Amino acid sequence: PVMDTSSAQPEKQPARAVTLTHPDRVYWPDVGITKAGLADYYTAVWPRIAPFIIDRPLALLRCPEGMEGPHFFQKNAWKGMNAHIVPLDDPMGDAAGHLIGIHELDGLMGLVQGATLEIHPWGASCRDWDHPDTLVMDLDPGEGVEWQAVITAAQEVRERLEASGLAAFVKTSGGKGLHVVAPLQPAADWDMAKTFSHTMAQAMAADSPDRFVATVSKAKRHGRILIDYLRNQRGATSVSPYSTRARTGAPVSMPVGWEELDTITGPAQFTVNNAMERLASLRTDPWKDFPAARQPITTAMLSRPGH
Ligand code: ATP
Ligand code: MN
Ligand code: MN
Repeated sequence: PVMDTSSAQPEKQPARAVTLTHPDRVYWPDVGITKAGLADYYTAVWPRIAPFIIDRPLALLRCPEGMEGPHFFQKNAWKGMNAHIVPLDDPMGDAAGHLIGIHELDGLMGLVQGATLEIHPWGASCRDWDHPDTLVMDLDPGEGVEWQAVITAAQEVRERLEASGLAAFVKTSGGKGLHVVAPLQPAADWDMAKTFSHTMAQAMAADSPDRFVATVSKAKRHGRILIDYLRNQRGATSVSPYSTRARTGAPVSMPVGWEELDTITGPAQFTVNNAMERLASLRTDPWKDFPAARQPITTAMLSRPGH
């Protein structure tokens, strides 16, 4: 099945400046999604995905032969990359090369042309590299964890973030879990963001040691959910809302509303093939308040995160 965008795209899309080579190359063979189909998906979600991927460093999962071929994680500019992908200079970076970003839809089409199957932005804008504007709590269920327990964990992270004075939004990862995301005013530095999220993860593991772990070591993961706070350090990335995943079924990381979370059947429920139908049927964007809900992490929060 190829995505049906006929009902979801009543308006004519802008002409593309980026020429796709091999538009019929199949990227997700199991569901028949081609490079051209990927470009159509991203063109349709552009207004939604743009705030999360423009003007920030991006790491790309590139798969030139599609999801079943070799994958590589690309953090730096490369020879021959599309001209709409822009080199970014990390003020703290070394000579290892330029990081990469995009400014507009043509940039996103440049990513598609470069066989980008996953887009992983930093949690900071390149206007202010050292003060994150996004905090991500990545919930990684170990073996044997029920999906409902992941939902309950996300609700608990939300309560703790809100008790600290931050807003919380949730999305499927498109992989195995959920991501709870807090919009930040870029006031605190990376050290503070990491300390804040680490302290929260430790508090959850201390309060419910049978349910949560806060350390990445595999040993204690079985039957528990890792509260992965390590997205919140300088240079770390996490998959963007609306990004596709290089996994079976062409799943996407989909923003959902807290009130609908209990109805979500799994982390890969939303895919390239059903995303536009979902977005067209929603009365409001569940993340519409994200930009207006930005709050700073303060030093006062560091002593009592989530209590
Ligand atoms: P899941 O729900 O399956 O955990 P996820 O998006 O939370 O999905 P992964 O895809 O496993 O997690 O990625 C873990 C983190 O590491 C992501 O935040 C991603 O940005 C980063 N990452 C992924 N692949 C690489 C890689 N090859 N090299 C470095 N970092 C990577
Ligand atoms: Mn995860
Ligand atoms: Mn993780």
